[in-house]
This record gives sequence, structure tokens and C-alpha cells, in this order.
Amino acid sequence: MMRKFAGNKLLVATHNRGKLDEISAMMAPLGIAVVSAGELGLPEPAETETTFIGNARIKAHAAATATGLPALADDSGISIDSLGGAPGVYTADWAETGAGRDFGVAMNRAYAELEAVDAPEPRLAQFRSTLVMAWPDGHDEVFEGVVHGRFVWPMRGTGHGYDPIFQPDGYDITFGEMSADQKNLISHRADAFRKLVKECFT
Ligand code: IMP
Repeated sequence: MMRKFAGNKLLVATHNRGKLDEISAMMAPLGIAVVSAGELGLPEPAETETTFIGNARIKAHAAATATGLPALADDSGISIDSLGGAPGVYTADWAETGAGRDFGVAMNRAYAELEAVDAPEPRLAQFRSTLVMAWPDGHDEVFEGVVHGRFVWPMRGTGHGYDPIFQPDGYDITFGEMSADQKNLISHRADAFRKLVKECFT
């Protein structure tokens, strides 16, 4: 039996606007409002682990400890088969420029590395999301989600992060070309979220 969340306002341990918007949209039907670590001015802990679960735990527990409130964190990324699963947990790092994050830089790097190894089409890839719900007493619950698809080039559409180069299986448009509602039905985050809601919010 997993622990249930009792309140009507959830702390989300993120400084990432794209993730926050998606999690807010997924929580809205449950009547739960969302406040983020970014909005509260909480420090961003260093993500020193080598797994999504490890880094999601760091973020969720840091926020729960700092505030005394239950906190939800997402650690996520894209793994590209022909690159041996890279960038994986380093998905956000590939966007670091020294002057903030630029996901155009990250997507161009992935494309250049695929070309360098002459990767065949389709260039299979997966987005993964690990959600960790942590309580101030140190308890936590972990949920994982995945969506399979392919890396496509050139970029198409908008969205956040690597949305413009990811085309999910069964679709001829990228995440970047989908409406928020459409993406939130099929994404890795939605997959993990459904498991979280089933166990901790109902
Ligand atoms: P982290 O979880 O904060 O370490 O970073 C994960 C990174 O993966 C984000 O900064 C995005 O670049 C990327 N990412 C995760 N989920 C998505 C998504 O739904 N669309 C596009 N990029 C994503």
C-alpha cells in the first residue's frame, strides 16, 4: 500500500517551466494546485547521481526537507539507441552553453553525433520520466514512464527541451508540433503520472 497525498496544493521540485506547465495541467483535473521550487526560491540541488531515479530522489527530498511539505520531482531525458543511450541522464547537460541552456545546441549535437556514426533510419529513441513523491519524514514513492519513438531531423515545431526532434511511434508529427493536450495524453511524463495518480492521489 503506497502512501497517499492528502492536501490540495502540491509542491513540485522543479525550476523547469516546461515540466511545471505539464505537471500543472495533469494535476488540474484532480483539483490540486501546484507551486514550484522555482517560485519559492528554493536552491536547485546538484544532480550527482547517474540514474533518473537517483536524481529525482535528490530533488524531491531536498524540496520536502527544505519546506516540510510533500514534494514531487521529475527526472527525465531522451535516450537515443544509436548513441548507446546518450544523452540519457545528461539530456539537460547537453544544452549547457556557459550562458544558460540552449536546446538548439543540444539537438544539433545529437544530430551531429548520429551523422558521425552514420546511424541508420529510423533513429530509435525513448523519452523516460521518473517521478518521485517524497515526504518530509524521508518516505518516498517512485513511478516510471516511457514513450518510444524516433529522432527526426530537421527540428519541427516548438515545445520545450527536445520536443522538436522527437516523433512518437504511431504519429507523423513531433512532440513540438502537438498541442499540449495531445502530448500530455501520450508522453513519458503522462505515463508515469497515471501510475502516480492511481497510487498516491485516489
Ligand atoms: P532534468 O530532468 O531536469 O535533469 O532534465 C531533463 C531534460 O530532458 C530536460 O531539460 C529536457 O531537455 C529533456 N526533457 C525531458 N522531458 C522532456 C519532454 O517532455 N520534452 C522535451 N524534452 C524533455
